[in-house]
Amino acid sequence: MNRTLCTSVLFSRAFGKCITKASLPHSASCFGWVVPFTYLAPSRSHSTNIKVRSYLQYMKRKIKPPPSPPYPHICQVGDPVLRAQAAVVDPQAVQSPEVQEVIHTMVKVMRRFECVGLSAPQVGVPLRILALEFPERMLEDCLPAAREARGVTTVPLQIFINPQLRVLDGRMVKFQEACESISGFSASVPRYLSVEVSGLNEKAEPVTWQVSGWPARILQHEMDHLEGVLYIDRMDSKTFINVNWATHNE
Ligand SMILES: [Zn+2]
Repeated sequence: MNRTLCTSVLFSRAFGKCITKASLPHSASCFGWVVPFTYLAPSRSHSTNIKVRSYLQYMKRKIKPPPSPPYPHICQVGDPVLRAQAAVVDPQAVQSPEVQEVIHTMVKVMRRFECVGLSAPQVGVPLRILALEFPERMLEDCLPAAREARGVTTVPLQIFINPQLRVLDGRMVKFQEACESISGFSASVPRYLSVEVSGLNEKAEPVTWQVSGWPARILQHEMDHLEGVLYIDRMDSKTFINVNWATHNE
């Protein structure tokens, strides 16, 4: 199972899927730019494909305008919305149709992508809203040993608006995690063992939640999204992997 924290955190057989992607400036400079003799012009078919695709895209946009946030998809690293600091939601506006639509879309997207957490910036909305959910069926996908080691427990759907995080246990634990905004990659990231989050729920009621283990990791990952921070900013870079690296050798 590859669950991202966003976010989905991931743990299971491949441990890792959610997350980021490191650029490859080194290899690009080695092979791309320094070997001009191997330069090949794009093939005609490739060029034709691009033209056909561009034309189809053009026609599609003539008929149907591009989607606007909140998106039904998850924004990918490189999108500026993922690097911006999200804005505080006016508590009076929590139950407005606009904010409720954002929450509704987040939950829908989170479930569709089988994430265990999602932040509003990931659907293109720079507001301080988080959603978390770890259903029983996902827990069943998790091997018992991994469940115990990571402190994985089920989490009913929870929405936090304007969340504040407080560290309850400052010890750090490292586990592989991933993020749907850095699709196809994973890395080991240190996170606090236990935290408390407080904020408003979707009904604008004040809520506080103390958690440790895996849910605490999910929360820290999602909180980072509100500051424009991605797990790749905190990871042990030598553990960064393409989750499908082995299949490339088959
Ligand atoms: Zn994420």
